[in-house]
Amino acid sequence: MTIETILPVPDIFSANRILCVQPHYDDNDIAAGGIFAQLAKNGAEVIYLTVTDDLMGVVDASLTTDAATQSLAQDQLAAGKIIGVKQQILLNYPDAGVYDYFALRRDLLKYIRMLQPDFVFTCDPWLTYEAHHDHIQTGLAVAEAVLFSSLSRIASSDPKVDAAYTGHSINGIAFYYSREPNQIVDITSTWEKKISAVRSYSTQIPPDDADQLVMALQFKSQQICDGKDFQYGEPLKVLHPKALHCGL
Ligand SMILES: [Zn+2]
Repeated sequence: MTIETILPVPDIFSANRILCVQPHYDDNDIAAGGIFAQLAKNGAEVIYLTVTDDLMGVVDASLTTDAATQSLAQDQLAAGKIIGVKQQILLNYPDAGVYDYFALRRDLLKYIRMLQPDFVFTCDPWLTYEAHHDHIQTGLAVAEAVLFSSLSRIASSDPKVDAAYTGHSINGIAFYYSREPNQIVDITSTWEKKISAVRSYSTQIPPDDADQLVMALQFKSQQICDGKDFQYGEPLKVLHPKALHCGL
């Protein structure tokens, strides 16, 4: 017997409504855009939630804050259209700045209780050598919010949402940017969509950098498919939500 017999690794393709929480506006697509495009194509509702305002990565120093915000939003909408994202939610915490972990967790609890996704995706906060605090905070806050979503004594940031919430099942949580993936998802049929989405983020990634990023993604996406019968893949660590505590 293995632990998977008791807590089976859920099938991401069984999901109907997916909440994909990213620290920055391009992380979902860089890490798992091929998977999200496939899920959307299959008819699932794909919702992106971005934690920070992304202002620190804007390359054009002459842009005002308002112009930069507008330009970021245009990139994000264009990429979302390519992937098939149904809704984009922005929390606007300060990019690479100071913000409260528990405030973020409360906001995530609010959206999980309000949207009631059956699958949640985010970045792996336990990625060794990850230096960006936004990634560590986001991944951990999402994992805790998934673990605590049914505990009504743990408040979200919106008492009305908490009062209306009667519970729902989250079948699984999937971490991208993980060093311990337990599955490689075939994204060969959505590879082109992923790459055009990634190229949409020009406010932060100028064309030369985008070329380099695409080459790196191509190399990694093919390398992990070694020995498999498909060409491009994205790695994920997929867990049953109950596996998020006490080493189960
Ligand atoms: Zn990021």
